Amino acid sequence: MKIAVVGAGYVGLTWAAVLASLDHKVFLVENNQEKLAKLKRGQAPFFEPGLEPLLKKGIKSKRLCLFSSLKNLREKPALVFICVGTPSQKDGSIDLSYVFQTARELGKNLWLGQTAVVLKSTVLPGTTKKVGKIISQNKSKKANFSLAFCPEFLREGKAVEDTLHPSRIIIGSEDKKAVSLLKKLHVPFGAPILTMKIESAELTKYAANAYLALRIVFANQIADLTEKVGADVEEVIAGIGLDPRIGAGYWYPGLGYGGSCFPKDVAALASFGAKEGLKKSLFSFMHDCNQSRPEEKLAEIEEKWGSPAGKKVAVWGLACKQGTDDVRGSAALLVADKLSKKGAMVFAFDALAEENAQREYPHLYYSPDLYLVAKNADWLLVLSDDSLFAKANFKKVKELMKGRKIFDARNILPKEELKKMGFEYLGVGRS
Ligand code: NAD
Repeated sequence: MKIAVVGAGYVGLTWAAVLASLDHKVFLVENNQEKLAKLKRGQAPFFEPGLEPLLKKGIKSKRLCLFSSLKNLREKPALVFICVGTPSQKDGSIDLSYVFQTARELGKNLWLGQTAVVLKSTVLPGTTKKVGKIISQNKSKKANFSLAFCPEFLREGKAVEDTLHPSRIIIGSEDKKAVSLLKKLHVPFGAPILTMKIESAELTKYAANAYLALRIVFANQIADLTEKVGADVEEVIAGIGLDPRIGAGYWYPGLGYGGSCFPKDVAALASFGAKEGLKKSLFSFMHDCNQSRPEEKLAEIEEKWGSPAGKKVAVWGLACKQGTDDVRGSAALLVADKLSKKGAMVFAFDALAEENAQREYPHLYYSPDLYLVAKNADWLLVLSDDSLFAKANFKKVKELMKGRKIFDARNILPKEELKKMGFEYLGVGRS
């Protein structure tokens, strides 16, 4: 099929590269000139395992062609996927300006005959139909289109793997032609395909993200209680996880949920719920809990270890999780920044995210060597779940550090071993 994809971010670029690898002819549209220039050189503008080889292969085989605007496309695509960003506004509500701008551009450039327009950006119920209206208002009479919403469930750090092996495909559309085209496109992925109303599909994406975020809020509340009674949150999680109704996966007590999706999607759902008259909003509660979480943990550290002013603090991990260089919504970076503002000298290490962190927080010190940042440090704060950290040589760390205090925000370090070595270990929800 000939397919256009608008927006070369984590979602759009991965989707375009995967479709090209499956022999579709893909037209990828990116209006950020810097990103486009990189892409044309075969470089992905962000780190994602396995993505760059797919991009290079797509460009070389001419299955993947790059454009700065929809108006430059010479061939008519059967499908157009909109994958532009939907960030938060200051009040937490969703910023749909990129989506609506794309809809206007698409309307003005819509090809003669029939095109299926598919929204993949995460948007609140009612938005896809608004996109349809904007396209209709801008299109010529001879151009026709059908409309669908197909949410994206990929995880950063596993974007290619998740796109090739999705857990399910959701097609939200009331248009038979769009549904049949999308089914044909998705059958090779081998996942269950669910067809539903557009609004149901739009809400499915939010419900999935909000539920996963809820597990993190829940784990944090249990962790707060285990700390008070001398229990261990990891033991409690193991105890509840064996119940098949609950499940063992996705329990992450720590600094709260972060990343480019959960914080903005829960905030958008809270704001949407308020607008729709939801009387008691779980989403607002979750959002509040999560917003204050990093500062609360930092206050606890200060209560136990004193003020960070004048201290040298080593920070391992700046992205919100391992395997990504994305620092959007990272609680780890927030904590590193707060420590620096409180007068600590913060030396930070992240295997992938250093460059992006440096751009946002140039006042922190960075090093590409995790041991070097620990040299003469009073405290070591391990703030992300990079598997490098659990495997680190703590004998060497002990020799290098001046102090003996280690905070393990993701409960990934060998607690007992560290205690035996003489470290003062502080985890989350465990003593
Ligand atoms: P992103 O910010 O990484 O990428 C969006 C891209 O679209 C940018 O490169 C931007 O320059 C480009 N763009 C904006 N307007 C454009 C236009 N008019 N024409 C061409 N290009 C344009 O965003 P992302 O992380 O890929 O997320 C995209 C959407 O998918 C969001 O709604 C997000 O919530 C959702 N989503 C993201 C993830 C994730 O893990 N990142 C997972 C599932 C869903």
